[in-house]
Amino acid sequence: ATPIGLLVGTGRGAQLGILIRGPQVLEDTRRVDTVLLDKTGTVTTGHLAVTGVRPLGTLSVAQVLAYAGAAESGSEHPIARAIVEAARGGIAPPESGPEGTAPAGSIAAGLLPVRDFASAPGGGVRAVADSAVVLAGRASWIRENGVALSEADMAALGEAQQAGATAILVAVDGRVEGIVSLRDTVKEGSAAGVARLVGLGLRPVLLTGDNAAVAAGVAAEVGIAAGDVFADVLPEGKVEAVKRLQASGAVVAMVGDGVNDAPALAQADLGIAMGSGTDVAIEAADITVMGSDLRQVGQAIELSRRTLATIK
Ligand code: ADP
Ligand code: MG
Repeated sequence: ATPIGLLVGTGRGAQLGILIRGPQVLEDTRRVDTVLLDKTGTVTTGHLAVTGVRPLGTLSVAQVLAYAGAAESGSEHPIARAIVEAARGGIAPPESGPEGTAPAGSIAAGLLPVRDFASAPGGGVRAVADSAVVLAGRASWIRENGVALSEADMAALGEAQQAGATAILVAVDGRVEGIVSLRDTVKEGSAAGVARLVGLGLRPVLLTGDNAAVAAGVAAEVGIAAGDVFADVLPEGKVEAVKRLQASGAVVAMVGDGVNDAPALAQADLGIAMGSGTDVAIEAADITVMGSDLRQVGQAIELSRRTLATIK
């Protein structure tokens, strides 16, 4: 192999905003047949917006949002940012939610004083706000923290999820007080990006910690087969998903942006990070696409393969 071809390939990559870690990466791109795509921040913008709040206890909509916003103020998660923004009264909702759900924009809650913040990746956050213990997160994690969920709570959660929302339960002092519904938006280039992967003969698979209804909606929107969706995956589960596919004979590329994605990026045969992603994800990846656009993922794989063909 002549190293000149490799330099040309990686140099052209840099022009396109595609950073390839080293020549050995090119060979891996040739073997890849399956591309696992993280949802939030990779296929979607990761800029969520609160679309509604549904009270389920004794607190008002404004109170539920105020407690949730306070608890989330210590987290950098996209869900947390959106809830804090809504609690500060900074957003107008794109739509109002189902029956009994108040649009977030009608609420000017402000943030409560908060201390003792703790977060569980893929679970939720816990903090003491205004002397009350507040939990905000997914149902299984809320339950693990000793809060009982009634049938009515679960039904309300199911309704919010069926409506396509990322639904976060809020508990205050051990009682469920409400649900905050959020929505993310698919990135402009994601559908074309998935089509490009399929055009290259690759199988795209969606991977997310979010609920199945949201995952199915996003998959349908970008053209990923319904059977190729892994939802409700805990952070540790992402690396397991890569291993499982590898064990079944697949050669796997993983595309992600979050801290949670880093182990899966490292485990994959080819790790691809979004330039907008966390440093941890970028460090774990073989390729970084600076434009954070899924179209660049197919482009990176194509470019690497073409460079290899030139030098062989
Ligand atoms: P993704 O795979 O979509 O990037 P994560 O693994 O970060 O998602 O989170 C999975 C789920 O865990 C979320 O959909 C949410 O239910 C819950 N969760 C994670 N972080 C938070 C948080 N800061 N506040 C509330 N819920 C959270
Ligand atoms: Mg992500």
